Amino acid sequence: MALRVEHDIFLIRQRGREVAEAVGLEHQDQVRLATALSEVARDLLRICGGADVTFAAVVEAQGPVRLRVDLAPVRPLPSGRYEPQSGAVARLVDMLGVVGREGDTVVRMSRRVPANAQALTPERLAELRAELGSSAPASAVDELALQNEQLIAALDEVRSQRDELAVLNEELQETNRGVMALYNQLTEELEETNRGVVALYAELDEKSAQLRTASESKSRFLANVSHELRAPVTAIIGLSRLLADSASDPLTAEQARQVGLIRDSATDLLGLVNDLLDLAKAESGRLEPNWTEVDLRAIFGQLRGTLRALSTKPDVELVVEDPPPPGTVRSDEVLLAQVLRNLLHNGLKFTERGQVRLRAEIRDGRWRLSVSDTGAGIAPELHERIFEEFYQVPGSTRIGGTGLGLPYARRVTHLLGGALELASEPGRGSTFTVVLPVGGA
Ligand code: ADP
Repeated sequence: MALRVEHDIFLIRQRGREVAEAVGLEHQDQVRLATALSEVARDLLRICGGADVTFAAVVEAQGPVRLRVDLAPVRPLPSGRYEPQSGAVARLVDMLGVVGREGDTVVRMSRRVPANAQALTPERLAELRAELGSSAPASAVDELALQNEQLIAALDEVRSQRDELAVLNEELQETNRGVMALYNQLTEELEETNRGVVALYAELDEKSAQLRTASESKSRFLANVSHELRAPVTAIIGLSRLLADSASDPLTAEQARQVGLIRDSATDLLGLVNDLLDLAKAESGRLEPNWTEVDLRAIFGQLRGTLRALSTKPDVELVVEDPPPPGTVRSDEVLLAQVLRNLLHNGLKFTERGQVRLRAEIRDGRWRLSVSDTGAGIAPELHERIFEEFYQVPGSTRIGGTGLGLPYARRVTHLLGGALELASEPGRGSTFTVVLPVGGA
């Protein structure tokens, strides 16, 4: 199209809109492009006295289709540059600027065609060209009327958008107020909870300290009492032995029986006192293992000898197996022997027939020294209780004992870096296992 006189601006604007509509631009974009085109046309008519206007649909490989309008000025642009009179014009299209075309300088603008528009095949383009060519241009007055209509529609849209924005703003402020209120409430609740937690921790610390003090006092008390009791009890045993001695004055049969009772009770008491002292020492942390390379064969041999004398029941066999090589463990010989003796002693005490067996094996890099018996066994719910101080399974009390052996054995095993495990079922016997790291704690 040729732009030479004022009237051409209307025609070009109208054609611009028609072409934009034909290639598939949306209504708003049609108006935008047409407006930009008429503004640029007016500028060029003034600056260079006119231009030749070309519409083109540019189809790039994989890119979007674009509607491109070139305006080639009839006289060169002053200093080869062009700036639209109104700065807002450039915003109406995707691209607006001066480009070189076949040695000339043209003003070019383009707008992207939406992807959902009808495909612009060569046939479709030919069709459009024919359609546009046959339609007669309307008069300037018609175009002006149309332009006014579009302007009113645009203004309407702007107003409704502004109203919508105001509503949105109001909603946003409302939401903000809600969020702030919620945030304040949460912060308050959090602070409250924090204060509670801090108070709880303080209380917990205080209780732990009290518990520690109580436990220390208990150990100290036990140690003192048992220590103080040992001398008089030992004296009673000595004196009752002396009284019953054949070298002393003869006693009547009744007197001898009573002195015997005194001695037995005092011996029981001494056992209890000694156990208490051991436990108090282990609990107070004053028991320091004497670490050496302990020969398990030697310990097992010793236990075999000393406990055989204790196993007086004809139907119970004591079996002490030889430990497998290497047969040594880093530990405290006296404490380890004490624990095993304790367990074997219990086994012999609580087994009426069958056998009590001590055996050693290495599994997963640890020694497992197990004492198993064919005795009455222990109900699962008592497996932890029997490790409590003074606890004895009801019914087993008549057999004698203090209820301090197992708690002591467990403490000492821990001290030696190991664990004391129990597997037992009523009627199937019990197995106590001392698990020790081969290399010590
Ligand atoms: P004590 O043997 O001096 O009573 P322990 O602490 O050694 O104290 O044992 C606590 C209780 O655990 C025993 O009184 C007994 O009821 C039960 N117990 C321990 N060893 C065995 C065992 N080998 N078989 C059955 N019951 C056992």
